[in-house]
Amino acid sequence: MTAGRERIARARRWVVKIGSALVTAGGRGLDADAIRAWTDELAALHGEGAEVLLVSSGAVAEGMTRLGWTRRPHALNELQAAAAVGQVGLVHAYETAFDAHNIRSAQILLTHDDLSNRRRYLNARSTLRALGALRVLPVVNENDTVANDEFRFGENDTLAALVANLVEADLLVILTDTAGLYERDPRSDPDAAIIRHATAGDPRLAAMAGGSGSIWGRGGMATKIDAAARAARSGTATVIAPGSEPGVLGRLRAGEELGTLLEPSQEPLVARKRWLANQLQVRGQLVIDAGAARALAEGNRSLLAVGVQRVEGAFQRGEVVACVDPHGREIARGLVNYPASEVRRIRGRPSSEIETILGYVVEPELIDRDNLVLTGR
Ligand code: GLU
Repeated sequence: MTAGRERIARARRWVVKIGSALVTAGGRGLDADAIRAWTDELAALHGEGAEVLLVSSGAVAEGMTRLGWTRRPHALNELQAAAAVGQVGLVHAYETAFDAHNIRSAQILLTHDDLSNRRRYLNARSTLRALGALRVLPVVNENDTVANDEFRFGENDTLAALVANLVEADLLVILTDTAGLYERDPRSDPDAAIIRHATAGDPRLAAMAGGSGSIWGRGGMATKIDAAARAARSGTATVIAPGSEPGVLGRLRAGEELGTLLEPSQEPLVARKRWLANQLQVRGQLVIDAGAARALAEGNRSLLAVGVQRVEGAFQRGEVVACVDPHGREIARGLVNYPASEVRRIRGRPSSEIETILGYVVEPELIDRDNLVLTGR
């Protein structure tokens, strides 16, 4: 067994993401046999002492069937209605199947807002930890009924990575309908090989995942690669694994070379910085000069007002802003110590002048290094 695959065999805390296609009959209603088969596999892992969290979609597909809809609606409120109808069926199916194994399950519904609000994020984390300690198996989905279109997680790859971050999982398994990540599009190149092992966040992976027109369709491989990079921030390894292989989870645990393993390269970020890096929405942007961009990129440096050239957005003190270089590339994100109106007045000026300009000083730094995380790739 390779060192990478041994890591899977040793993993104690697993987050397993199952997409709609793997639990529904052709994207329509739920496939009870498929749910039972997945539950059997998850129960086996749980029985071996692993802590298992399931992230499953299928609510919209099941809701559409229950409502007698044959076509996916375009209107967000109709999708949300379908999700509301279908989610009860989804958790009921899982609960019934886990009951047969004497495993207690629980429903967790999350939106992006829940995870960007620090207090709700901490609440979600401690609830998931409590469930883990109780040996309850959480079934997580996006809270589709209240999610905004703009910030929906979509096919749950991102949500699964954030859950992996929340619980500091050892392993994230993203089950999909391909054999893994191919080096080239296997439709146009039948000799294209599967990548068995790579580093999460490696920029070459994005090129392999392809843009539009790739074989991976909506959500696609790009979101899976991005999810692996996010998961790596908590030291979590990701496997993009073939959902069509019978017994795939047990076989992964036994060390079989299935799918693509993406291992974290960096040291895990502390929880606070991870939360910062995962903000999908920032309140504003600070355009910083090349010197400040270089200084931040070197790591462990604070951002000073003197390095800021331009301020965009209307943020308050303590909100999350992005730091972008003069070419518009994001370098870092952090919690800013002054509101936008005041940053506009002190930008480009040495920290020693802040008091004279504003009449007070909160902190000499604009963003303290402890509240700043590098996000540039
Ligand atoms: N969370 C959704 C579900 O469970 C995502 C899938 C979709 O938008 O169709 O159905």
